[in-house]
Amino acid sequence: MASINAWDSGAIKDYEHVFEEFGLSKFTEYNLTDSYLFKRKIIVAHRDFSKIADAIRHKKKFLQLTGIASSGEMHLGHKIDVDFYLLFRKLGAKSRFSISDIDGYVSRPDAKVPSMAAAKEIAVRNAADAIALGVPPSEIYAQSNMPREYYQLTYEVSKKITNKMFEAIYGHTDLGKISAVLLQIADILHVQMPHMFGKAPTITGIGIDQDPHARLTRDVAKRLDYDFEMPSFFYFRHLSGLKEGSKMSSSEPDTAIFLKDTPEEVKRKISRAFTGGRESIEEQRKTGGNPDVCKVYEILKFHNPSYKFVDGTYAECRAGKLLCGECKKNCIAFLNAMLKKHQEKYRKALPEARKIVYGK
Ligand code: SF4
Repeated sequence: MASINAWDSGAIKDYEHVFEEFGLSKFTEYNLTDSYLFKRKIIVAHRDFSKIADAIRHKKKFLQLTGIASSGEMHLGHKIDVDFYLLFRKLGAKSRFSISDIDGYVSRPDAKVPSMAAAKEIAVRNAADAIALGVPPSEIYAQSNMPREYYQLTYEVSKKITNKMFEAIYGHTDLGKISAVLLQIADILHVQMPHMFGKAPTITGIGIDQDPHARLTRDVAKRLDYDFEMPSFFYFRHLSGLKEGSKMSSSEPDTAIFLKDTPEEVKRKISRAFTGGRESIEEQRKTGGNPDVCKVYEILKFHNPSYKFVDGTYAECRAGKLLCGECKKNCIAFLNAMLKKHQEKYRKALPEARKIVYGK
């Protein structure tokens, strides 16, 4: 039986099997925008996306909620969440971005996030990253700094989930993780509350391993004493880690490129990344490399908007014209230029980020 663990950092190997087991629909709306995030088929599945597609096509009201749990520094995997957020707001969504500091503390071991104060400091850095990537500060909120309606909704959600339900979905009844789930459900639904944007189709982008949250949120949405539209979800491929078979994760720093990494760190990590290169230069010239399994190519595919550069890399790799050493150098140059700009904006965004988390 396939299992999806919402707190696991393993990579999903068999998407087709997961679709069948959990009843997800394959994503087919790739022509909705020209964005590379759609054209490169980074979204793989959805629940109820047709309402959102209709709203985009006919310029009707729709909402978006995305977030990040403040349990560590943002890496390129988190950047995908933000890139999708920016795309859907451009497509017309009224949007809110959650910096989930309470979630980050209560659902993670003390060794990772030792206190609420530590989670808030991580939240400041995460918010500054989100601002630097282009999210307007007015759309970002920290879970610990919200109006009372939001907390009231969180408690109302708790009334709709029993221990048995929780155990059946997640396989345990850890109180911290239960609290985190209640907050995540409130995050997704609160945008439809009367003091926010009101009832409307709502989209949230998640990795497939987060599907248990999606199923529970949809189930709770219809049983709460509010007039909520059932929220929709799209599922994107996780950027895998730099090692073979891993997901990019802050728990394993060497599998991830962090947005705060120095040029030297980027160089070191990319130089050691798993590639689809052959045993020898001669063999690679003769048979070509395999970009489909290559972590370097994957980073370019997920983060470099230039079709010329990314498609060119793919074709030249396949043809044996491009070798891994040169290709890694190109990737390092691309990442370091991107991160240099990001880090400048990040520093400027810190005071605003602090206000979001601490309210002053
Ligand atoms: Fe990967 Fe580039 Fe080597 Fe091809 S040439 S396998 S894309 S690193």
